[in-house]
Amino acid sequence: SDAGQPAIQAAFAAAPIITATSIKVNVSLPEAAKRASATGADGVGLLRIEHLILGLGKTPNWFIRNDKEDEFVDELYTGIKTVMDEFNGKPVWVRTLDAPTDEFRNMKGGEDEPEEHNPMLGWRGIRRDLQSFDQFRLQVEAFKRLWDEGYDNLGIMFPLVGHPDEFLQAKDMMYDLGVDVDNKTLGIMVEIPSSAILIDDFIDAGIDFASFGTNDLIQYTLAIDRNNQNVADMYMPKHPAVLKIIKYAIDRCRRGGVECSICGQAGSDPDMVKWLVETGITSVSANIDAVQKIRETAARTEAKIILDASRK
Ligand code: PEP
Ligand code: MG
Repeated sequence: SDAGQPAIQAAFAAAPIITATSIKVNVSLPEAAKRASATGADGVGLLRIEHLILGLGKTPNWFIRNDKEDEFVDELYTGIKTVMDEFNGKPVWVRTLDAPTDEFRNMKGGEDEPEEHNPMLGWRGIRRDLQSFDQFRLQVEAFKRLWDEGYDNLGIMFPLVGHPDEFLQAKDMMYDLGVDVDNKTLGIMVEIPSSAILIDDFIDAGIDFASFGTNDLIQYTLAIDRNNQNVADMYMPKHPAVLKIIKYAIDRCRRGGVECSICGQAGSDPDMVKWLVETGITSVSANIDAVQKIRETAARTEAKIILDASRK
């Protein structure tokens, strides 16, 4: 009957949209976990732990120097667990620490940070962890506690990886710290062009997933500082060179059977996501506010792909 129609429409509007592409969400702080899971996202495609650490007002090195390693591990463990508990078994990819030295400068312990002309090209991401064994070890201790408690859905994502050896070294370090690495989900961010160019070698090295960090991938491909207003007009997410690099890596990941995702800001742009789904990306991680729109975009794009194929 007519009277029933609004109810049916409301039920349709509330029903989850099913997509073949997993639609995940980016989380920066545990406080946002509830809001993030309420989007119905299929998991967390990026949990940025540096925000958790920057919020403590002390550098990891400060904790190490002051015999407060346990406190550091507790903070990390608790923050990540809060997010994982909200996501209830869905995959959560935690990114290892990726703070440029200048962001640590104003914190307790900041006086130890090296002065760098180009912190974005400097001692950050996996580069720093591979040279700072203790900093890496404390992060792994927090991850291990979660794995030991049965959080098998915890995956680890290494930032700013540019060479497969860096991935292998990080994996070896985890193994030495007692992690059963072959049974864990370990992946990389593709945010330096070299990692996209060498994606086959990363697949051979055993990555379980790759996720485009387009915020950095764009700046490093185009030599445009992502934080410099003078060149902001030239920061082009859809620059043909950026798209070509992304398409190359997606094709190779598909061929290698490796999950291929995006967690940069471009993953919250419907136009970009339409192109990514057409190109074959397997998951997209968007900002909390964009998840619903991105899911609709993916669903519409997938439907069109099927329709177009059926008309051929
Ligand atoms: C990126 O580079 O796209 C990314 C997600 O990482 P961040 O913005 O933290 O550098
Ligand atoms: Mg980045």
